[in-house]
Amino acid sequence: MSDNQRVFAFGKDFQGNNVTEGNKDMKATLGGKGANLAEMASIGLPVPPGFTISCQTCMDYYHNNNQFPDGALDEIEKYRLDLEERIGKRIGDAEDPLLVSVRSGAPFSMPGMMDTVLNLGLNDLSIQGLIKQTENPRFAWDSYRRFIQMFSKVVMDVNGDLFENAITAKKITRGVKGDNELSAEDLESLVAEFKDIFSASVSADEYPELVVDGAVQFPQDPDMQLNLSIRAVFGSWMNDRAQLYRRQNKISDDLGTAVNVQAMVFGNKGETSATGVAFTRNPANGENEFYGDYLVNAQGEDVVAGIRNTSPIAELKEVDGLQGAGQELEEVFKILENHYRDMCDIEFTIEQGKLWMLQTRVGKRTAQAALHIAICMVEEGLITKEEAVLRIDPAQLDQLLHPQFDKGATYDVVAKGLNASPGAAVGEAVFSAADAVSAAALGNKCVLIRWETNPDDLAGMVAAEGILTSHGGKTSHAAVIARGMGTPCVCGAETLKIDAEAKQATITGTDIVIKEGDMVSIDGTTGIVVLGAVDLVLPELTGDLDTILEWADGFRRLGVRANADNPEDAQLSRDFGAAGIGLCRTEHMFLGDRKSIIQSFILTDDPAARDQALDDLLAVQTEDFYGMFKAMDGLPVVVRLLDPPLHEFLDDPRSLEVEITKLEHTGAEADVLRTKRNLLSRIDSMTEMNPMLGLRGVRLAILNPELAAMQVRAIAVATARLIKEGFNPEPEIMIPLVSVTPELETLRGETKAVLAEVASEYGVELNIQIGTMIELPRAAVTADEIAKHADFFSFGTNDLTQTTFGFSRDDVESKFIPRYLERKIIPYNPFETVDPGVAKLVKIASELGREGNPGITLGVCGEHGGDPDSVMTFHEIGLDYVSCSPYRVPLARLAAGRAALAEKHNASDNR
Ligand code: PEP
Ligand code: MG
Repeated sequence: MSDNQRVFAFGKDFQGNNVTEGNKDMKATLGGKGANLAEMASIGLPVPPGFTISCQTCMDYYHNNNQFPDGALDEIEKYRLDLEERIGKRIGDAEDPLLVSVRSGAPFSMPGMMDTVLNLGLNDLSIQGLIKQTENPRFAWDSYRRFIQMFSKVVMDVNGDLFENAITAKKITRGVKGDNELSAEDLESLVAEFKDIFSASVSADEYPELVVDGAVQFPQDPDMQLNLSIRAVFGSWMNDRAQLYRRQNKISDDLGTAVNVQAMVFGNKGETSATGVAFTRNPANGENEFYGDYLVNAQGEDVVAGIRNTSPIAELKEVDGLQGAGQELEEVFKILENHYRDMCDIEFTIEQGKLWMLQTRVGKRTAQAALHIAICMVEEGLITKEEAVLRIDPAQLDQLLHPQFDKGATYDVVAKGLNASPGAAVGEAVFSAADAVSAAALGNKCVLIRWETNPDDLAGMVAAEGILTSHGGKTSHAAVIARGMGTPCVCGAETLKIDAEAKQATITGTDIVIKEGDMVSIDGTTGIVVLGAVDLVLPELTGDLDTILEWADGFRRLGVRANADNPEDAQLSRDFGAAGIGLCRTEHMFLGDRKSIIQSFILTDDPAARDQALDDLLAVQTEDFYGMFKAMDGLPVVVRLLDPPLHEFLDDPRSLEVEITKLEHTGAEADVLRTKRNLLSRIDSMTEMNPMLGLRGVRLAILNPELAAMQVRAIAVATARLIKEGFNPEPEIMIPLVSVTPELETLRGETKAVLAEVASEYGVELNIQIGTMIELPRAAVTADEIAKHADFFSFGTNDLTQTTFGFSRDDVESKFIPRYLERKIIPYNPFETVDPGVAKLVKIASELGREGNPGITLGVCGEHGGDPDSVMTFHEIGLDYVSCSPYRVPLARLAAGRAALAEKHNASDNR
């Protein structure tokens, strides 16, 4: 292969020799489809011959003002001629024409996002050749009308309804119901009508090359058909839905798509022909069984489009005339699994009893299936435990943590469909993607109900909590996309009669009507549909997930703690495998009925009232910590002293102002008004322009030492009591938002004094570590000094991101980060995945921290601690642990195991 080779052959030559130029590892060049077609051809599977135009050519086309780059067309023509040579047929030939498909195929699978053209090469001459060869005029005319229809829609952007309407009109005139009842003559006259639609819809100005005798004509020249189709596939890389899909899946726009030009084989040549899609194992639950659907006498897209109801793949080898191909297909399943050492997804066609493989790739699967398949493959000796751990995408585990119907809940099932994507969802019924988007924008949860989904529905599918369709199998568009996104989905609920115009659905055989806005619950794990809201619960983590997490634990170096601030969450964290609490935000303990106590502390100048408030707070805080430390007995619990600006505990001044104005108008008592006005002026006096950069964190403790002392006393007393009761509490005290060393030094001294007092009062030894958060750049770059007064650092990457960027964390995510992402100013949201600049500060501070105090423990407790990509970064930096919300603990455990394995593999690759 030369460096600038743009086109690559696959399949056999005329003598049956394999002339494939690519392989499965060339996805970046050939796209997933092209690379795997090459691989299948090379291992001797029956692949129709063809060639692949590289992804780079697509990008060069874009960079060349949407024109083919120099030499590309010549190279394509050379490979086209070679393909004709290899097959012994010519495209457009009047005697025995070669027909080809033109399909997209990006390096990452983007199901249904880009374009495909089938039956290319048909024209008014070659149709005669096709009739001669097949002796089946009906088939030939049907192929021609499909080609014109697809080409017009996909390549020329002609409104697809015009063709569907013409077919419907023809069926009405002929008095038939199904497309398959139209005769060869009907289809021939449809071809003429389709050509007229084409001429009337395509602009001569835009396509002067299509003008013949003064009017636009459907192109007869196969070269022109091919070039326009390749351009359309390149163009589809940048269509809106493809771009949205890539943003959703963090796929770069710079990869481009390959184009596969391949000899057509036909699944619609009668009862011994078929087409289907299959998985070598069950992609929903991972069971070791063949899984998929097929349709007899049908063409490619009919299966995924969900137009006709399909039959299960296991029945294929029982069908007359298809047994041989069915058996061969099962052999192919085994060959592919052994070759790829993974579950594969397959598209095939049987043409008059002969099996052809059109596609394979490592198949997408639910999280549940991913775990089960990985474990079974380890047991079968196909892969190692390390590979099993590396195969599970931590982000996908989210699916397993999805809610399920509460087992104790009672409900009436109104319909049942296929359990296409696990998890349960509750929301108001919406009947269009646009309505789903609007509902979500208003903050309303919704379930998107459609006859079937298509790629144009993607934005609505993303916005919806769940997806419900009345048609299509488990490999339909809705099912595949929902599984990929981890969105619960029930599909093919056939008793549902949907009227999308009227925004309602009826259930056949009942008088039940689901109207827009009605609450609906679906369970994608069982396929159940319920009218009304069912209570949801989160599933327990057992079985396969536990096994994989235990394997990951065996590999990981990074500890995983949880952010929790009540005993229930602490217990949950423990159940999920957290090795402690990395952040207990104590401000959460001052909400609800506690708010009035802290308010009375803040709002009074009377020393006695303040003391009373502190005593009350001490009592409740001591019980809070007692509960937390007990739930986490024997494990560390990092308690952070109060962090937020105090006025966050006060009433909203705006509502207070409104209340005062109302009281003034209703002539309230002077005393009442005076108190309210005093309160308002007190709140006003505490208001800050930038409260997140104001009086919070350690600054609050410096100005209100009695508040910090109360919290430390509560921690110490709870610990002392538990020690006396025979428990083993391990609290650690954390001082937030330190910027200069003396802040920490001061607080450390005051904290130690209180600890010593309580230790002597209770007659116990209190070995409580005192550390700080690193969440300001100044602290990060002076960490060597700060570390001399800290037993541990915990990186508060939420604030560190805010202060490094100068982004207000409460505002920018809704205000402009989405626009920054769209315009590619930043590659991802830095509040989700740690930014390299922020990571650099973490690295610098870690190194300096260890210089200043070699025994220091280093953790992270910002939201990034539960983000798999960030976990990888923290592992590389060499932190001791990450801390994240309880439900993300399993993700973090897996991500930490994978990070360690990735490092090991990189090290051995570099050796
Ligand atoms: C942080 O800043 O990363 C952090 C954990 O603290 P908070 O989010 O409570 O400010
Ligand atoms: Mg913070």
